[in-house]
Amino acid sequence: MLLNILTYAHTLLRESLKEGDIAIDATCGNGHDTLFLSQTVGSAGKVYGFDIQEQAIQKTQEKLQENDCHNVSLIQDSHEKIPEYIKEDIFGGAIFNLGYLPKSDKSIITKPHSTLAAIEAILEKLKTKGLIILVIYYGHSGGLEEKEAVLSYTSQLNQKEYQVLQYKFINQQNQAPFLIAIEKKKRS
Ligand code: SAM
Repeated sequence: MLLNILTYAHTLLRESLKEGDIAIDATCGNGHDTLFLSQTVGSAGKVYGFDIQEQAIQKTQEKLQENDCHNVSLIQDSHEKIPEYIKEDIFGGAIFNLGYLPKSDKSIITKPHSTLAAIEAILEKLKTKGLIILVIYYGHSGGLEEKEAVLSYTSQLNQKEYQVLQYKFINQQNQAPFLIAIEKKKRS
């Protein structure tokens, strides 16, 4: 059975992340992925969650409290500042959900420059066989530019160092989201 985009994102991360890893949710939104990462890396691990909106940080905080998760630091700031906040040397994996917060202000969106800066910062410290998952929503104003920037950057990553997968349903209407997974082959 083919998995939908969000289920496939979690399936890949569940395979690659280990208990005790450092994981990053680069776009917390309502906290769905933050909770998943928290439960996956367990109490020996640590999750850093970023979002620029107070509302997203609050929602995520509530979700974590409801589920008794205590291994997450939530940071209300842009993910491009990851190097300022995360000092550990090796990251286990990360997820981005690009676009805007559902049922919220559609003008507050992820942007190419900061998205690419965050991806670069994570790649530098990603473990061997670690994954960055990007779920790309692009139907909104500004979405197409970001999609093109991410595809251009990720498709030019050196194949000796990274494998890059695109997972996309090609007969869906209305600019359905798709997934890019970047796997580091070997940490230098
Ligand atoms: N993963 C989320 C969930 O499970 O609900 C959905 C994320 S939503 C598609 C995108 C989020 O990215 C929004 O909450 C938005 O505020 C946030 N965002 C936009 N620009 C950002 C940035 N530069 N750094 C961190 N978060 C950002």
